[in-house]
Amino acid sequence: MKQLDCIMRLSNKFSRLPGVGAKTAQRYAYSVIDMSDSEVEDFISALRDVKTQVKYCSVCGNFTDKDVCDICARRDKSVICVVAYPKDVLALERVSGYRGVYHVLHGTLSPLEGRTPDSLKIKELLARLDGVEEIILATNTDVEGEATAMYIARLIKPMGVKVSRIAQGISMGSELEYADEVTLTKALEKRTLL
Ligand SMILES: [Zn+2]
Repeated sequence: MKQLDCIMRLSNKFSRLPGVGAKTAQRYAYSVIDMSDSEVEDFISALRDVKTQVKYCSVCGNFTDKDVCDICARRDKSVICVVAYPKDVLALERVSGYRGVYHVLHGTLSPLEGRTPDSLKIKELLARLDGVEEIILATNTDVEGEATAMYIARLIKPMGVKVSRIAQGISMGSELEYADEVTLTKALEKRTLL
């Protein structure tokens, strides 16, 4: 029997989500059929709300539903922790007693994939260095993360701001978001001055 078009269409949408293969996508689609009308409505409005309400903080580039995010509004602005993606802020916020603010680059340098300094939020970082005492570079410890950190360090150090790099407690090449809390806390505590 041929799959109904509307089920196929929903399966295809689910299969676009990260980590969801064709089989799982089909299971998801079938599970929607079994939902109550109100569950489906909730599902739809949750999707729509995320899309309409979430934007980037005008200061740090993290996700927020306001103009300036809660972290920028409340925390110590003399220390900025630089990360590649909003999900990294979440990882670092799960741990440690970090009380500074963040700057989200929205990517890492990768000349091969066309990600140049201009495509990252580096200009925005340079524009907010006034009164800043330390920049902590917390990009991943893989090749691209390292290259990005070194590039930014070379730009900022001559401007008289202290620049540090998170410690390699996170094993080389690994991603921040999957590091456990102890490792991340140590990586931040044992950062080295560049
Ligand atoms: Zn912010």
